[in-house]
Amino acid sequence: MTKFSIITYGCQINEYESGKFKEVFLELGLEEANEVKEADIVLFNSCSVREKSEEKLMSRIGYIRSLYEERGYPQSIVTGCVATNEEKRIRKVGKESVLLVMKGTESLAERMEKVKETILNLANTEALRMKKSNVFEFVPVIFGCDTFCTYCIVPIVKGRERSRPLGEIIQEVEDLTDRGTKEIILLGQNINHYGNDIGISGGFVKLIECVDKVPGVMRLRFLTSHPADFNKEVIEKMRGLTHLCPHFHIPLQSGSNRILQLMKRNYTVGEYLSLIYEILETFPDASITTDLIVGFPSESEEDFHETLSVVEALRFDRSFIAAYSKRPNTPASRMEGQVDEETKRRRLNELLDIQNNISLEKNLSYVGKKTEVLVEAIDRGKTYGRNPQDKLVEIEGKVAEIGSFVEVYVTDGTFTKLKGRIG
Ligand code: SAM
Ligand code: SF4
Repeated sequence: MTKFSIITYGCQINEYESGKFKEVFLELGLEEANEVKEADIVLFNSCSVREKSEEKLMSRIGYIRSLYEERGYPQSIVTGCVATNEEKRIRKVGKESVLLVMKGTESLAERMEKVKETILNLANTEALRMKKSNVFEFVPVIFGCDTFCTYCIVPIVKGRERSRPLGEIIQEVEDLTDRGTKEIILLGQNINHYGNDIGISGGFVKLIECVDKVPGVMRLRFLTSHPADFNKEVIEKMRGLTHLCPHFHIPLQSGSNRILQLMKRNYTVGEYLSLIYEILETFPDASITTDLIVGFPSESEEDFHETLSVVEALRFDRSFIAAYSKRPNTPASRMEGQVDEETKRRRLNELLDIQNNISLEKNLSYVGKKTEVLVEAIDRGKTYGRNPQDKLVEIEGKVAEIGSFVEVYVTDGTFTKLKGRIG
């Protein structure tokens, strides 16, 4: 049987797309390989947000080429951000092992069709097979980004904002819940812009109100919110939703107003703090997670300490912290005062230490309390799931079916998860 392997870099949108490509492979009767080495086709869904993942991709493509030249398989299909800009380099590195390169800006439907055609042309495919349902699913609602933060390559490689029609999204959510999905995670780079480009006024609020009402949606989340577009009125409307989870991912990026301005983020630290306090007033048990960048051009020790102060004051449940990485054709890549790698690494580690301690303390504050867990996996005698605040919960024993909700008594925690027992 022809085997495939999918390697995904980057964000949840790429994860979602890879899920769709997987469906195409499975429907054509291919089998998922346990290891890349076993596969006949390797699909790379690439990300160029950081330089490191781009280089990792090129080295993997080179590895596939060496296997192909030695044994005649596997061959690769490359899509995503890097494929948008670097087709020439991909083909140079991968030579004949590269079957197909598809730009990340092409629609997902077009790319799925191309993958299908390419596989059918390979002629050795087998009978149809269906994918099984999943407990939670990502649903992209808006592609691309119009926000143009000065460090970010996404608007360049993913193109302008394109919202999906509301009816199409609702149909997809209905199909997912029919197949057993309980939790829906709506996705967009700046999800608060949903509907702006297709003339739906108040589109984001309409969207979450409609998805919340789809029968079978037991939990609703969304990513990523932009602080400048998330306002009081949106928070007020969220209060009326039945299934919205009290978890909000709102990237701060920096605690220095000077750096935020250079990043073109369009909010101040004070405005960000007011937004978070308003959310917490409406949803007192909410978890707040964020993204932070250290070492942005010209970031001084003082700017960095301002970020530390905000992290210590707000006590995020989790932060995704990155060292600034210079991306081609972005305004920040041409800015004066690029910070050296060692300083970036030191600041990254310092911030990580502080955040990990806060995450641990936050998780330990659940000890002795009960929390509702949607079971996602059972592995080596343990049951895993997430609570409404998006905390990973590990339960001793095989205690419940995948897809069921259980009440868990929390007995312990680490900085990445809660531990507990049924009861
Ligand atoms: N759209 C979201 C937002 O507004 O924050 C997130 C999308 S972005 C692809 C994910 C995260 O990657 C960003 O929040 C930022 O922290 C990080 N990121 C983006 N470009 C970066 C760069 N050049 N260097 C380091 N981190 C970067
Ligand atoms: Fe990049 Fe900013 Fe758009 Fe997020 S909002 S994808 S960080 S440009």
